[in-house]
Amino acid sequence: MFICPFFIGRAVNEYGGLPAPKIHSSTQMTLMNGAPPIPPPVNEPILTYAPGTLERAELKIELEAQSATVVDIPLVIGGEEIRTGNTSNIVMPHLHSHILGTFHKAGKEEIGQAVSAAAEAHHEWSTTRWEDRAGVFLRAADLLAGPWRQKLNAATMLGQSKTAFQAEIDSACEIVDFFRFAAHFTERIYGMQPLSERGVWNRAEYRALEGFIYAVTPFNFTAIGANLSGTPAMMGNTVVWKPGRTSMLSNYYVLKLLEEAGLPAGVINFVAGDAGLITSELLTHKEFAGVHFTGSTAVFNSFWKTIGGNIGEYRSYPRIVGETGGKDFIVVHPSAEVLPVKTAIIRGAFEYQGQKCSAASRAYVPRSLWKDLEGPLIEETESLTMGDPRDFTNFMNAVIDQKAYDKITRYIDEARKSNEAEVIAGGTYDDSEGWFIRPTIIRADKPDYISMCDEIFGPVMSIFVYDDGDWAETLRLVDSTSPYALTGAVFAKDIGAIREALDTLKNSAGNFYINDKPTGAVVGQQPFGGGRASGTNDKAGSMMNLLRWVSARSIKETFVPAVDYRYPFMDEE
Ligand code: NAD
Repeated sequence: MFICPFFIGRAVNEYGGLPAPKIHSSTQMTLMNGAPPIPPPVNEPILTYAPGTLERAELKIELEAQSATVVDIPLVIGGEEIRTGNTSNIVMPHLHSHILGTFHKAGKEEIGQAVSAAAEAHHEWSTTRWEDRAGVFLRAADLLAGPWRQKLNAATMLGQSKTAFQAEIDSACEIVDFFRFAAHFTERIYGMQPLSERGVWNRAEYRALEGFIYAVTPFNFTAIGANLSGTPAMMGNTVVWKPGRTSMLSNYYVLKLLEEAGLPAGVINFVAGDAGLITSELLTHKEFAGVHFTGSTAVFNSFWKTIGGNIGEYRSYPRIVGETGGKDFIVVHPSAEVLPVKTAIIRGAFEYQGQKCSAASRAYVPRSLWKDLEGPLIEETESLTMGDPRDFTNFMNAVIDQKAYDKITRYIDEARKSNEAEVIAGGTYDDSEGWFIRPTIIRADKPDYISMCDEIFGPVMSIFVYDDGDWAETLRLVDSTSPYALTGAVFAKDIGAIREALDTLKNSAGNFYINDKPTGAVVGQQPFGGGRASGTNDKAGSMMNLLRWVSARSIKETFVPAVDYRYPFMDEE
């Protein structure tokens, strides 16, 4: 039997694997000549967690173990764990008396240390051989697809209140996909090379940006934390990552996963704490090279203003990438069928408590179809199970925190009082144990009723019923009602109606669905992002996004340089 000499005598780590190989940069050591292709990416299969499956048993064990542990989460700067003693608690949203852990918060000093650590790691990491950098993330993907899967899923379920299925598509499959596809796309980017005429060799070098990338990530997808910090790093950049306060546990495990996969110290620096303080320190730093943000529109706008106000102070023009809010729609044509619309509303609006940027939150239904849809939709909404994610029979869990609970319930209270709207399903809530809000449907009498326009980011669907003859006018309403343009769906059997919707709603959504719910974009299949107030539409997980994290250098080499300045046209006749 052949035994790889590299592994002889190496200790087995706590997850039963071998420690990841240590990376040496190309400046220190060149191991081989060749351009090994990245293994072709395929989307990670989604496990079912049905009764009797191995994954279900493993996940339950991990949920129990994590529920019985209180994790102390440090800052991780330059590979060092730093505990400032200034801490906040991490709780289960569905049982807020249960503390899952604490995290340490950075002060100005630690924020400065993170920038220095990123600067220190920059040269070696950005000159590390590409296949070694890719290897870290491909190894992380396989560790996550295997022995780390349930650790990340359980942390996401407990810390962010997700069902097993919602966690699986996020903290397992989407992270794996982000890493595998980014490696594949980066290889293609590096392969984009200019033409060379005879005697000249032209080359494109895709340099990492000069300075650090600031990755700022939201609570609602563990995968966004992994992607926003990880993929700029894959391109050779070094990163300061500020995770969301309420996704700290799963995000910390993402960092540990990357360390396990061999990510060198200082490449991604994990800095939790006061978002305003960290942001004001980092966005005004001379070495700030770009921000990779996902979150609300107002916060992103404030970033852009700060950067604009500071524009003369940076070494380079910073890259600004932000995916922000949404007011995602379902527009139904009279030719549509009732059952697919009902399912799209239930899944699109209420899965993960409507806390997906892509969640359907306004629907436009023709009167002829509404008479058959209303009863079954209300009945099904009222039947949805809600509770602790450790009880796998629940379809929904709690919203993320008190602030979200208060905001969402204000819209419900407002609709109850309004004479322009009616709460026709759900509408009740209870925060005594966890932040639970029943899935709610508001029927709006006016298409510009407030819940048809604002991003509520909770389990609230607003429906406007239109007269069948008003299809064209309704499409214009969909386009003009909200400043956002993230996702949207049309349901119709009439091909002409679908064409018309595609045309009128050309700029109303960056991800557009025909006869499907507007959530659940898959990396490599439906690159994700929106325009208008929904962001810069750089399409997370695609080549378009990755291109933002490199700065190309065009290199021309002339094999036999000219030795005379004169041109032939200058010769005497
Ligand atoms: P958020 O804007 O509150 O927070 C996002 C990040 O910004 C967090 O890390 C947070 O700590 C930080 N932040 C918050 N306030 C800040 C401030 N004043 N200064 C500096 N940093 C600050 O968003 P969230 O509640 O975590 O996530 C929900 C929002 O994210 C929704 O608007 C949703 O639509 C959006 N989102 C968009 C996408 C997309 O792809 N378009 C994906 C997921 C979430």
